[in-house]
Amino acid sequence: MVSTMAMERNLERMGRRLTGPRRELLSVIGSLEGHFSAEELAAAAPGVGRATVFRTLRLLQDAGAVCQVVGPDGALEYRVTAVGHHHHLVCAECGSVDDFSGCDISDLLNELAVRTGYEVSAHRLEVYGRCAACQAKGRAAEVRSARRAKADRS
Ligand SMILES: [Zn+2]
Ligand SMILES: [Zn+2]
Ligand SMILES: [Zn+2]
Repeated sequence: MVSTMAMERNLERMGRRLTGPRRELLSVIGSLEGHFSAEELAAAAPGVGRATVFRTLRLLQDAGAVCQVVGPDGALEYRVTAVGHHHHLVCAECGSVDDFSGCDISDLLNELAVRTGYEVSAHRLEVYGRCAACQAKGRAAEVRSARRAKADRS
């Protein structure tokens, strides 16, 4: 978990003044677990206007302190981050998010640039699936129901 202090330092390094509302948002973000939507953030900081919430999220993204997570349903959420360029593994069952780095797609991007004439500036990659914990839970449930079926038979 990245501390609010680290986010503050990031913003100050960018020469951004930490106004009262921004400071309040930072401490709220620090208290939110995992990932959160802009609406959840706005609801958790009722004293801060929505425009300020969105502006501050944008600012934190530019500072590399917060990243966007696109859920399996396309919903946009945010997550505190300290790592550089990275992507997300999103569990479609429990909604947990894991980071991974080292996306090895520079060959693909170069080829795309040549083929389409695009000047590629960014890319986005989210991987969806079922996390190890959810799979283990699923297996445990299967064993339980198999046992129950066996007990019913005997
Ligand atoms: Zn991230
Ligand atoms: Zn899961
Ligand atoms: Zn990448």
